[in-house]
Amino acid sequence: MTSKERFYRYIAYSTASAEDSETSPSTARQLELSKALHEEMEALGLRDVKTDACGNVIGTLPASEGVKAPVVAFIAHVDTSSAASGENVKAREVVFDGADIELGHGEVLSEKQFPFLKDLRGKTLIVTDGSTLLGADDKAGVAEIMTMCDILIAENIPHGELRIVFTTDEEVGRGIEGLDVKELACDWGYTVDGGALGSYEYENFNAASAKVTVHGVGIHPGSAKDIMKNASTIAMELHGMLPESQVPEKTDGYQGFIHLTGMKGDVVEASLHYIIRDHDRELFEEKKNRMLGAVRMINLIHGEGTAELEMADTYYNMKEKVLPHRHLIDRIEAAFTACGVKPYAEAIRGGTDGAMLTWEGLPCPNLSTGGYNFHGVHEFIPTDALETMPKVLVKLSAGFVEN
Ligand SMILES: [Zn+2]
Repeated sequence: MTSKERFYRYIAYSTASAEDSETSPSTARQLELSKALHEEMEALGLRDVKTDACGNVIGTLPASEGVKAPVVAFIAHVDTSSAASGENVKAREVVFDGADIELGHGEVLSEKQFPFLKDLRGKTLIVTDGSTLLGADDKAGVAEIMTMCDILIAENIPHGELRIVFTTDEEVGRGIEGLDVKELACDWGYTVDGGALGSYEYENFNAASAKVTVHGVGIHPGSAKDIMKNASTIAMELHGMLPESQVPEKTDGYQGFIHLTGMKGDVVEASLHYIIRDHDRELFEEKKNRMLGAVRMINLIHGEGTAELEMADTYYNMKEKVLPHRHLIDRIEAAFTACGVKPYAEAIRGGTDGAMLTWEGLPCPNLSTGGYNFHGVHEFIPTDALETMPKVLVKLSAGFVEN
């Protein structure tokens, strides 16, 4: 089976995860794809295939006979974002010649809206019918990893022990739930969950969340003078103390931000929810200190206990844990180059499961899948990326063999 055939098979499963669910996996429908992948891994000849309670499927491709190499994990996720429907995906192939692609349902894929399309003229793109996402994020990654195993076995290419890991609930930030890095027992890992062919990532944000609760004093407005403390007004005062330019809508590249994600309030109580992000650890701590400072200032002005802060780190930049193992990046570059693809590093303005695994002890950069416009109806993937990525992964795996 080709990588493309596998891809079509996997996107037929509707696997959206759900943010507000308390079950694991967050949606039962993910388990159907997990089951199919479990069976396919066994049919391919992988060993010790198991599906855990969260629906994560883990299997081992034993090392070729006589080969010495570190154990390497390849990781992709089965769920899709709930930002667009993933149900009844009707994918089709279009040879892109520069003209607008009418997807259907009034949706158009155009160079005007997506200037990077210019570089893809002449390629065959797998697109949606405009009513759903495609699911290349991350079923392309799943198909590419599975096909890598297929090629390694069929062509008898020497490789070390490989751990194949397909996770659930990545899109709701619970991708590594159920995974135990010690139990995985791998030396290195790669997630295959990135974008355009040739891109790879080993830098992501440091992340924290903060909730400020402001307590006010309520009284009839007619007799409120010098008594009322309006929690909502004080909350706005606090927000005004934060740096105005350090917000998502005014930053890009390596610029971090303090982002107000939600607020509610009345006179008696108001709450503000923030996420804090920065690639640089020092600037990250500085932003957290700004938040701390604003809360202190409010309490100085309006009395101790007026504002309460709950702030916690969520994840960290994997860079400082990956860079000491520079070979992980050199190997990515070598594998892409060997397949005629120009590699380039990008800094993620977000996090990855790989970042969390990295901080738990399994250094885990992220590789391209070849897909574009994730999480929406404009998602697409060039067919050649689906066939090239497995070859890149084969080169990467074979590159770890010690002579
Ligand atoms: Zn993804």
